[in-house]
Amino acid sequence: MAIVILELYLYFIIKSPESVGLAAILIFLTLIIYFAFRVGRRGGFITTALTIGYYVYILYSRNYEGQELINALETILSLGILYGLMAGVIGWLKETIDNLIEREANEKRRIEAIIEQLPVGILIADKTQKIVKSNERMNTIMGVKVPVGFELGSSYFVPVDTPQEPPSQSPIMKALKKGEVSTNIEYTVRRGTEPVHIHISAAPIHDREGEIIAAVSIIADVTEQKINELRKDDFINMASHELKTPLTSITLYTDLILRRLKKSTDTELTQMMIRTKDQLNRLQHLVDDLLDVARIQTGKLSLTQETFVLNELIQETIDVLKETTTTHTVQLIEAEKIHVTADRFRIYQVLTNLVTNAIKYSHHGKNITVSLVKKSTRAIVCVKDEGVGIPESEHEKIFERLYQVYESTEKKSPGFGMGLFISQEIVNRHNCRIWVDSEVGKGSTFCFNIPLASPVPSEKDDT
Ligand code: ADP
Repeated sequence: MAIVILELYLYFIIKSPESVGLAAILIFLTLIIYFAFRVGRRGGFITTALTIGYYVYILYSRNYEGQELINALETILSLGILYGLMAGVIGWLKETIDNLIEREANEKRRIEAIIEQLPVGILIADKTQKIVKSNERMNTIMGVKVPVGFELGSSYFVPVDTPQEPPSQSPIMKALKKGEVSTNIEYTVRRGTEPVHIHISAAPIHDREGEIIAAVSIIADVTEQKINELRKDDFINMASHELKTPLTSITLYTDLILRRLKKSTDTELTQMMIRTKDQLNRLQHLVDDLLDVARIQTGKLSLTQETFVLNELIQETIDVLKETTTTHTVQLIEAEKIHVTADRFRIYQVLTNLVTNAIKYSHHGKNITVSLVKKSTRAIVCVKDEGVGIPESEHEKIFERLYQVYESTEKKSPGFGMGLFISQEIVNRHNCRIWVDSEVGKGSTFCFNIPLASPVPSEKDDT
């Protein structure tokens, strides 16, 4: 740089000695810009000071006097101000750009450190479907080093057991191609020979214009949780099976005692036995629910299909449940006679659960209505209450196993969150669905549909 400037200077001197002053001004300006850019404001100001010093030296060495000296000093002062301003502005710009770059680099370092320290695996792919980042945890979970630059669509780098889907349907590919967000999709992969249960979540990354530029996948190893869950389920299944036999005997003996007590005059003892029977019924229900959940989980919930009149089953259910409440009225809105083909006992179970819930979760509203309509090839049954209602965010979750809207501490009604899970499974097994329409404070309407009998039996067949 210095050599180039010297060459330029000499060139000007040889070419035209009168333009040396102008050349010097330009060359010093270039030097100030250069140092302000390289070092910042400090570099610009030092160069400015040296330049002004040099100009003063020239003045001194050429013995200027009088008006000529004043003019020259004024020129130097103007140039000094100009140079100083240039040095200040350019230096400030350079420092600002440096700060921005530094901040960006720090941010990147911070994000990288966070990604590395996360207890979940992270995989980031760009829009060409190539992996651009993964963390150490990801390698540990998968049991292989996830290669940066690897193309996602080409093949899985780990064998996937479940679900059996093509790589193009993986959550990260869906995020990249369609902008789809996936949350906690369960997979089982193999680490060597060992199965690893993972939850994958994925989301697209957009630029300012909303274009997808990359996608991130978060992988959590839930193997330990899964094993504990299975162990807990096994224990509950075993315990409920073990409870079933003694419970049945106790119930039989209680029934026997109650029958004998009918002839007795000891009303106090009779009342005690009736209360014992009530508690036994509750226990029996709980054990039955636990066993049903176990059957559902092992795919062993079997259905026995038969054709029956749904109105009669609903009325039967209402009559039984009416006996259990003195606070609520339960009514069937009369409808045309509807024949359905389904598992009668299991549908009874669904109806019992919905009406029991309607009673349980209506502390103020007293009226419960059950309605029945035909729609296409299905019958739709709805149970409506005027109870506490369910927030919309919970409408899907209440059908999950063991899910309850209120924490057990603020819970006013007994229950374990199994009823709706079992009901949904029963209805789904009939290739039908169950749903809820509810508003907090106003009440809920639970509906499900079941297949009409086909062909519909004539009235004569009923009699
Ligand atoms: P449980 O009643 O034993 O807790 P369920 O599976 O039958 O279990 O119901 C799950 C949750 O859904 C309940 O805990 C309750 O919070 C909510 N729920 C069910 N039915 C109603 C209803 N009719 N009104 C208000 N909330 C309800």
